[in-house]
Formats: sequence, structure tokens, C-alpha cells
Amino acid sequence: MTQSVTVLGAGIVGISCALALQRRGFQVRLLDRRGPGEETSAGNAGILSYSNITPLANPALLSRLHRLLLNRDDDFRLHYPHLLPLLPWLLRFVSRCRRKTFLRDGAAMSLLTSASIELHKQWILQARAQDLLNQGGILKLYRSRESFLCDQLERELMRRSAVRHTLLDAQQAYELEPDLKRIFVQAVLIDESLSIRDPEQLCKRYAQMFIDTGGEVVRATVQSLRETSAGWELTTDQAVEATPALVICMGAWTPGLLGQLGYANPLAIERGYHTVFAAAEGVELTRPIFDVDASYVMAPMAAGLRVTSGTNLTHRETRPDPRQLARIIPRVHEAFPLAAELLREPWMGRRPTLPDTLPVIGPAPRHENLWFAFGHSHMGLTLGPITGQLIANFICGDEQPFSVTACAPSRHL
Ligand SMILES: Cc1cc2nc3c(=O)[nH]c(=O)nc-3n(C[C@H](O)[C@H](O)[C@H](O)COP(=O)(O)OP(=O)(O)OC[C@H]3O[C@@H](n4cnc5c(N)ncnc54)[C@H](O)[C@@H]3O)c2cc1C
Repeated sequence: MTQSVTVLGAGIVGISCALALQRRGFQVRLLDRRGPGEETSAGNAGILSYSNITPLANPALLSRLHRLLLNRDDDFRLHYPHLLPLLPWLLRFVSRCRRKTFLRDGAAMSLLTSASIELHKQWILQARAQDLLNQGGILKLYRSRESFLCDQLERELMRRSAVRHTLLDAQQAYELEPDLKRIFVQAVLIDESLSIRDPEQLCKRYAQMFIDTGGEVVRATVQSLRETSAGWELTTDQAVEATPALVICMGAWTPGLLGQLGYANPLAIERGYHTVFAAAEGVELTRPIFDVDASYVMAPMAAGLRVTSGTNLTHRETRPDPRQLARIIPRVHEAFPLAAELLREPWMGRRPTLPDTLPVIGPAPRHENLWFAFGHSHMGLTLGPITGQLIANFICGDEQPFSVTACAPSRHL
């Protein structure tokens, strides 16, 4: 068995793989062109929810496909100049918008999510990161009875997966969050779910725990890979180096390396944006809310109230498109008393997503000593620790705690 592993990408997924491998006795190098957790893993909504199990390919989307394609709804914005290269992904995605597929993929997601949140709880204690933790659950809010009914299948998936949740009427929701404006008619509390007040800081605390126990973090930009008789030769902007084993965790930037190795790109990039507000004087939001009809999440964070947007489906490197967030902001004001906007420019991140919303976790289908951990879509912060654990099991040849065939790299590569 190899004793030394290099992990490429120090987002939450790479950091988690590095930590899990280190705990199995490997000498681990974690390599990134930036500091740990400074890309997509920094600017998300910070939610670690047992309800983070809903595949995006939901049959409920079919009835509003025309609206989505015309960019009429705020949760989704398609960049038309990029439509042609996206078509194969979109066709696979739409073909999965079936009840049976939705429930099956959701069940696979649920195993990952609950195992990962349990690991987060341990790691947060070990990393002394309790100050970043909010344990008040997540509140899903509906402005109309119709939109509540539209989410029926999602609630069925939660029931089947034993995700604890409580249906609330508007009054009960206002008792939990008294400063919400009185525009909601129904709510669902995802009890026991957690959220993080500063996801970048959580990544940095986990990375520090890795460093404190002998792990090495290297700042370098990966340029290419070459398979050798002894493992891999890695070329970065700093050096050419040999490593016996590699784990690729480069999120939205993974396709470049996949292409060099002869694998097709299975990902679409769902860009997402956030901005931050101060709460109006004397008001407080104590847990993240998801305003379903207005398509945003607002989460109380160390730096203020972070408002995150839905999906902007486009090429990874096109210019930011501020329209989706701009359309959402007036609706946020309808729901909660806000003071100044604290960011001058919105933050932008890139969710790497497969048509089934499940990540790729496992050995490379056509190469030795190479493992993949990418494609964590909307759930990467939640799923980091279990991804690390599963990768460590694969590398050690240990039995997995549950079937992970739903995440097999061979399903799309
Ligand atoms: C708006 C928004 C809200 C979200 N909300 C949530 C949420 O509430 N809960 C949740 O669980 N998830 C959420 N997510 C999803 C989550 O943020 C991602 O799934 C997760 O961050 C992906 O982690 P990662 O480690 O795969 O990728 P990243 O964090 O993007 O890490 C990839 C790393 O690879 C490095 N890299 C890339 N190219 C190179 C190169 N050539 N050389 C060296 N290094 C390189 C990058 O610098 C980066 O650090 C949200 C995402 C967005 C955009």
C-alpha cells in the first residue's frame, strides 16, 4: 500500500480527503494555487442540513421548463451563448426528472449527508470550531400554499430518508423568527440541521488541524499530470515532482486534468452569487432561511446576513452576471428588515454539478493510483468529511460503510 499521497485542491473536499488520509497514517501533501478554502468553499450559504438530499433533477421542474428556458424564474438563469456545449448535459439532466430516479438518487444522497454531518460534528469539536456553529436548524419558508404543495415530493423523500422536519404554520414560523415580515403562509423547520457562520474559516480550521498533525500544505498551480511506472509526475508552476498516488479534488477546475487523462467532462458549472447585508437596527435572524418563492437563502454569518442566489448555468470563466442577484434583492427586503449592503461587488462561486447531482468519489476508471473526488454541486460543504472518509477507505482497500456505487466515477467518465 502506498504511504504517501498528494491531494490536488484545498477546498472543503480536498481538505477533508487530506485529513481523512492523514488519520489512516498516510504522509499527505495538500496542494492549491490559493489558501485553503478560498474558492467555492468560502462563499456558500454554510448549511449542513440533513435535508441537503434533493436531486436538482426534480419532476416538478418539467411543468415550468419553458419558464426556466426563458430565464423567467429567479432560481435559474441560462447563459444562451453557452447553450450548445451544455446541451448533452441538459438532456441527461432532463431525462432524470422522473419520480423513481429522483427518489433513488435522493436516497443515495441521504446516506452521504447524514454520515457527513456526524463527522462534521466530531471534526468541529476537534478543530475547536464550535464558535462557528449554529445549531438552530434551517427554516424553509413559503409565500403561497401552491409552492408549498409543489415541494410535496421533496417532503416524501425526507420522510423516506427519516430526515427530521416539522411543518409549521405562519404563526409558528414567526415565533421562531419574530423579525420576519408577515408575508409567509407556511414553513418547514429542518430540525437538528447545522449551519456555519463562516465556511472559509471552517476550512481553515480543518486545514490547521491537518498541518498541526504533520500535514503539508503547498501553494502551487497544477499544470499537468503524467502517469509513470512509480505513480505520477506532477508539473506545477513551481516544480516537476513525483508522487506515488494522487487524489483530484479541484471542484469546477477538475475538467482540465480529466481532459489531459482522456476522460470526457461530466460537469456543468452552476455559478452562484452572494452579497451581505447588515440587519436593520434591533432585529435579528437566528438561523438560515430559504425563501422558496423568492429563490434565495439568507444565512446569519459572522460578517452579516449572507444572501445567496440559485443557479447561473454558463461557462466557468464568462464574466459574472449580476442580474439574478439584482432581481432577488428587492424580494429579500420584502421578507426581512435590512440595513446597508456590505459588499461592493457580489461574490461569485462555481458549483460543479453532474446530471444526477451526486458527486464523483472513487478510483479513476482507467488509471492506477489515481482517485477522484469532485462534483459536489450544492452540497460540497456538507459532504466534505464523508468524501474524505470514503476516499481513504478506497485507498486502504477497506470496506465502505454503505454502498457508494451511486457515486462511482465510471457512471459518467
Ligand atoms: C452560492 C452557493 C451556495 C452554496 N451553499 C452551500 C451550502 O449551504 N451547503 C453546502 O453543503 N454547499 C453549498 N454550496 C456548494 C459548496 O460550496 C461546494 O459544493 C463546495 O465548496 C465544493 O468544494 P470543492 O472542494 O469541491 O471545490 P472548491 O472549494 O472550489 O475547491 C477547489 C480548489 O481547487 C483549486 N484549484 C483549481 N485549479 C487549480 C490548479 N490548477 N492548481 C491548484 N489548485 C487549483 C482551487 O483554488 C480551489 O481551492 C454552495 C455553493 C454556492 C456557489
